[in-house]
Amino acid sequence: MQNKIDIDLLLQADATHLWHPYSSMKNNPPVYPVQSAQGVQLKLADGTKLIDGMSSWWSVIHGYNHPAINHAIQEQLEKMAHVMFGGLTHEPAVQLAQLLVKITPEKLQQVFFSDSGSVAVEVAIKMAIQYWHAQGKPQKHKMLTILNGYHGDTFGAMSVCDPVTGMHGLFSGVVSSQFFVPAPECRFEDEWDESDILALEKVLEENHADIAALIMEPIVQGAGGMRFYSPTYLKRARELCDQYGVLLILDEIATNFGRTGKLFACEHADITPDIMCLGKALTGGYMTLAATLTTEKVSAGISNAHPGTFMHGPTFMANPLACSAALASTKLLLSSDWANRVAQIEQQLKTLLAPARAFKQVADVRVLGAIGVIEMVAPVKMKEITRAFVDRGIWVRPFGRLVYIMPPFVISTKDLEQLANALVDVVSDPSYLKQA
Ligand SMILES: *Cc1c(COP(=O)(O)O)cnc(C)c1O
Repeated sequence: MQNKIDIDLLLQADATHLWHPYSSMKNNPPVYPVQSAQGVQLKLADGTKLIDGMSSWWSVIHGYNHPAINHAIQEQLEKMAHVMFGGLTHEPAVQLAQLLVKITPEKLQQVFFSDSGSVAVEVAIKMAIQYWHAQGKPQKHKMLTILNGYHGDTFGAMSVCDPVTGMHGLFSGVVSSQFFVPAPECRFEDEWDESDILALEKVLEENHADIAALIMEPIVQGAGGMRFYSPTYLKRARELCDQYGVLLILDEIATNFGRTGKLFACEHADITPDIMCLGKALTGGYMTLAATLTTEKVSAGISNAHPGTFMHGPTFMANPLACSAALASTKLLLSSDWANRVAQIEQQLKTLLAPARAFKQVADVRVLGAIGVIEMVAPVKMKEITRAFVDRGIWVRPFGRLVYIMPPFVISTKDLEQLANALVDVVSDPSYLKQA
C-alpha cells in the first residue's frame, strides 16, 4: 500500500500531464491508481482489491501475472528484447506465425505483424486495395461496412467505424467516405430472416465495381454497441462477397481466442475471410501486438503485380518480446479446457444477470460466451457508477448505456458470482442513470 501523500501527488501529476483514452484535460472523472495485479484481481495503490470484469479490454484472458507468460518473456529478454524485422527474422515471430496459421481457418496462410489493432485494420484495408490495384482494378478502393461497428482510432480504421459514435462529423473532409448499411437486426439466437441481408446485397449489386472489401466484426459488434448478430448474416455476407467479387475482412480483434465460445467468431458461421485481423487477447494482454492474416490468393495477387511489395513496415514489427508473450499465451489457451470454461462462464452469466431484466432502467440483458451485457435505457453517470463498482470490489467500465463485463477465463465461479451480483446490485439503482 502506498501512502496517501504519494498517491495524491501521483494523481495530481496524472491530471496535469496525461491523456487517458477518450479523456479531456479538464474535469475528468477520477482515475484509480493500480499498484499491481494478480490473477483476476487488481490491487489499487490504497490497498483496495477489485475483481476485474474487463480483462483490460478483452485482453487478459489468463489473468494477470501468469507464471507461464512471465517466464516466456523473461527467457526472451535474456536473448533480445527487440530487433528490426527488415532483413532479419527470429524464432518467436516464425513460431507464432506458424501457430496462428494452424489454428485459424485453413486458407489463411500469411501473417503481417503490427503493433496495435488499429494498425492491423489499416494493414487489412491496404491489402484489399493493393490486391485490386494488382488485378488492374484500381477503382475498387472503397470499403463497405455495417453501422454500429468499431475498428480502431486511426484514420483508415475510423472511416469504417460507425459514423456517429466514430465522430465522422468532427473529422469530416479528413475521414474517407465509405459505404455503410444498417447493422443486422437478427440477433445471435433469432431465427434467420432473409430480409436482413437485402440492404447489403443492394449496395453490393450497385457499387461492387468501386468496393475493395466488406469489413466487419464477426458475430459481436464490440465498442460500437455490444450487439450479437446472427451467424447466418455472416454466411450470407461471405456468399455475396464471392458473388460480387469483393474481399471479406473480418476484424476478430475483440472476439479472437475464445471470447465468444469459439476460438474465432467466424467459426460460428463456418466461413473463412480473405483477410483477418487479430489483436487484444493475442498476447494475453501482456504487450501490444496485432496480426493481419491473409490467403495465398491475396498475397500472391499483391506480390505478382506492380509494385510487387506490400507497402507497410512498422519499426517494431514482430517485436520478439511480444511474439514470445503471444506464443506462450496461445499455447496456454490451447492446452487449457477453455471451451468448457467459457461455456460455464456463459451459463453462470445468463443466470446471474437475468434478474436485471426486471429493472425499469434496464433495456436488455444479453450474454454470449464470456461476455455479459446490461443495456440501460439511458447513459450512465460514469463518475458515480465507477465509484459504486469500486466500493463493491469490482472493476467495470461502462460506456454510454452499456454496462458490460468480459472477465478473464480463469475467473473462479465464486469470483464471477461476486462480480455479477455486485454489477446487478449497482444497476438496480436508477440514480446512476443520466436523464433519458
Ligand atoms: C479494440 C479494437 C480495435 C482497435 O485495437 P487497438 O489495439 O485499440 O488499436 C479494432 N477492432 C476491434 C473490433 C476492436 O475491438
